[in-house]
Amino acid sequence: MSTKIKGMDKSFIKVKCPDCGTETITYARGSTEVKCPVCNTVLAKPTGGKFEINGQIVGEFK
Ligand SMILES: [Zn+2]
Repeated sequence: MSTKIKGMDKSFIKVKCPDCGTETITYARGSTEVKCPVCNTVLAKPTGGKFEINGQIVGEFK
């Protein structure tokens, strides 16, 4: 499952790794890939101005 984010006003999101279930807090947008600190699965990647989330968003923070 992946979710594309655009124009989001949230600053941070918590993403649950689809492989190991570890929850990682990251920026809701950015220009670099975000990887799971445990299993190294790519959790989020920038795609043409949007931020594609690979996994489940379990929280949002400002
Ligand atoms: Zn993981």
